[in-house]
Amino acid sequence: MNSNLKFYQSIRVKIALVFALMLMLTLECVGAVFVRQLETQNLNTFKQNIELPSHVGNSLSEQLTHSNTKKANKKIQEILNQVDNNNISEIRVIDSKGVIRGTSTSESRNVVGQKTTDSTVKAAIMNNQAHSENIYDSSNQTRYYVNVVPLNDNNNNVVGALLMRASLEGVYSNINSITLIYLSAALITIVLSMVLATFISREITRPIEKMRKQTVRISNGDFSGQLKAAENDELGQLAGAINNLSIRVEEAQKSSDSERRRLDSVLSHMSDGVLATDRRGNVTIVNNMALQLLGVDGEEELISKSIIDVLDIRHDYTVRQLIDTDQQEIILDMSNAGTDLILNAYFSPIQHESGFISGLVCVLHDVTSQQKEERERKRFVSNVSHELRTPLTSIHSYVEALNDGAWQDKDIAPQFLTVIQNETDRMIRMINDLLSLSRMDSGTTKLNLEYVNIKELFNYILDRFDMIIKNDEENDDTTKKYSIERHFTDKDLWVEIDTDKFTQVIDNIMNNAIKYSPDGGVITTRLLETHNHVILSVTDQGLGIPRKALGRIFDRFFRVDKARSRKQGGTGLGLAISKEVVNMLGGQIWVDSVEGKGSTFYISLPYVPYEEEDDWDDQASKE
Ligand code: ADP
Repeated sequence: MNSNLKFYQSIRVKIALVFALMLMLTLECVGAVFVRQLETQNLNTFKQNIELPSHVGNSLSEQLTHSNTKKANKKIQEILNQVDNNNISEIRVIDSKGVIRGTSTSESRNVVGQKTTDSTVKAAIMNNQAHSENIYDSSNQTRYYVNVVPLNDNNNNVVGALLMRASLEGVYSNINSITLIYLSAALITIVLSMVLATFISREITRPIEKMRKQTVRISNGDFSGQLKAAENDELGQLAGAINNLSIRVEEAQKSSDSERRRLDSVLSHMSDGVLATDRRGNVTIVNNMALQLLGVDGEEELISKSIIDVLDIRHDYTVRQLIDTDQQEIILDMSNAGTDLILNAYFSPIQHESGFISGLVCVLHDVTSQQKEERERKRFVSNVSHELRTPLTSIHSYVEALNDGAWQDKDIAPQFLTVIQNETDRMIRMINDLLSLSRMDSGTTKLNLEYVNIKELFNYILDRFDMIIKNDEENDDTTKKYSIERHFTDKDLWVEIDTDKFTQVIDNIMNNAIKYSPDGGVITTRLLETHNHVILSVTDQGLGIPRKALGRIFDRFFRVDKARSRKQGGTGLGLAISKEVVNMLGGQIWVDSVEGKGSTFYISLPYVPYEEEDDWDDQASKE
């Protein structure tokens, strides 16, 4: 039995008590009627028993009419002595004057001749009416039946009365003993019935107890047991219903378990972070991605915390605002010194059909790259506009000056026109560069790949630069002087590249090296191979690049010194294009520089060594 259940609360005890009480009530009623009936019956029988035969009454009446009192009294005494009835305690004969004329007991003979004081006797004589009553004599603690009967003569005149006193103790002791037997039987019946009731109620409650235990097992998630319904009564049907319930609950549990597992696996494999809260906005569910995005080690750091603290938006939003707004998107900048992180937080309340809102779901999406791209795009557009406006403004002002009459000045006009031509050329170069970058961005640039001996190509490009300087020297030109040193590997290195585009890259780097070097500088070029890369490098003795600018040198329109670059006809796109081309070829480009000392640009390209000798050996052995 359940220990929480108090003894008197148990159905078993209740049934037994109800049984016993009902039985007691029944027995009580039956007993009361029975004892009453028994008493009446016994008293009637007793009264009949003590009734004197009529001739005794007649004889006594006759004696009372005699004038000779003494003789009559003697006769009366004789008649009374003849009455043989053990039940009668005393018979007294009283004449019409109220004088006691005789008594059946010897002890009270002395009252003969005295006047009776008994009022009932007097009344009986007066009224010629019989009277009977039960009295209790406290002197000897005995109950008596007293019967006063008027005695009549032949003319029906009252001649006296007969007082009869009979002890009722015999009758009552008889009734009492029968009642005692009845009570004992009733008590035994009650005790037995209680035992029986306890047994029956235990039989009734046993299946109930079994069902209780089974429901406790079900609630604890143990669905293994099934109740056996012994009979098809209400309890049997209840057992069947519990069995069905157990199956249903098990099915529901399984489906909710699998649903939960599915949800867990969906949540944990989602590429977006998900947080769910209760209706107070405290976090209840958090998936791995959300932990990762928020830079938190374990979910216990977030669970039960308010979402506005977790996302650090307490200054701008309240939980109520987030819950009340149907759907809301917030951009959260979570960038710190080391990393950029921009999240898009999408809030949606969890609303029941009734309209009750039980919480909030927040989906975190990493939009860092989109936001960066967006920012890049905006900066690029502004850069392009700015870069095009500068040459256009200068062209505009020169044209204006020419228009204002400078065209007539033979010295100034050609200078102005040269500037206009240079600016126009630079604009065309810039637009061409932008177009080729845009083609590479959109992926429409086609690479014309072929295996090229990179040593030969590098030598060919550098030869051209040597040639330019040679021509310049012959013409005694004033352009910058430089010399090129080559430190190349002896091996021919065959690499798959787009010759034209790669030539553009080397041209660009060489031009920069010359542009940003002092007059007479030495440009050192190197070519070497590792086991799966070829590495080209160009080192100058120029200005070098400040450390903080190194990271941005390959960005579009980035220049360390804008004015100098423009003056030298630079577009600020050369290295950006070089980087795109090298990346398209599967290679890398980077720079190493010490400000004021010079810079080295490196290009690495993927390279698969070609085992020429082995091949020759193979062919030779075949031959
Ligand atoms: P630009 O047309 O301005 O030369 P680039 O993209 O080729 O554009 O180069 C970007 C910037 O990088 C240049 O403006 C310059 O400041 C810097 N730079 C490039 N090469 C060198 C170098 N060899 N030495 C010093 N600075 C260089």
